[in-house]
Amino acid sequence: MKKDTVVRHTGDYRWEGVEVLKYKDEGAHFQSITRQVLFDGVPELPCQLRYFEIASGGYSTLERHQHVHRVIVLRGRGQALVGQQIVDLKELDVVTIQPYQWHQFRGTGNDPFGFLCLVSSERDQPELPRPEELKELRSNPAIDDFIRV
Ligand code: MN
Repeated sequence: MKKDTVVRHTGDYRWEGVEVLKYKDEGAHFQSITRQVLFDGVPELPCQLRYFEIASGGYSTLERHQHVHRVIVLRGRGQALVGQQIVDLKELDVVTIQPYQWHQFRGTGNDPFGFLCLVSSERDQPELPRPEELKELRSNPAIDDFIRV
């Protein structure tokens, strides 16, 4: 059997040989979030599947980009800003982030909020909101309280 045929789950949302990484290498626009790369792209399947875990009260970066995310929640409770709406998320919900939609994820339960995120291997860098864009986002009372930067 090839070495990577099965990656064993070793318990508590950790996998054999998969390192628990920082969410991003730098920045202060996120909090209490880790990243594990479950598979990396190969030419026959040029995408990457990551497992992110956000501790209670933590959040991902508010950002947008050309590439699309497909997210499947595995554990816990959370919320996401997707474009101009806040959605409540629980286990096995599926979320799509379209090109250039502003998005941010938050853990809202007592347990960690964990989700798989599928992306293309070749992808553009995320953009953070410029001051005028942030002001415009915050002008929507439905999302102003949600946003963390
Ligand atoms: Mn993103």
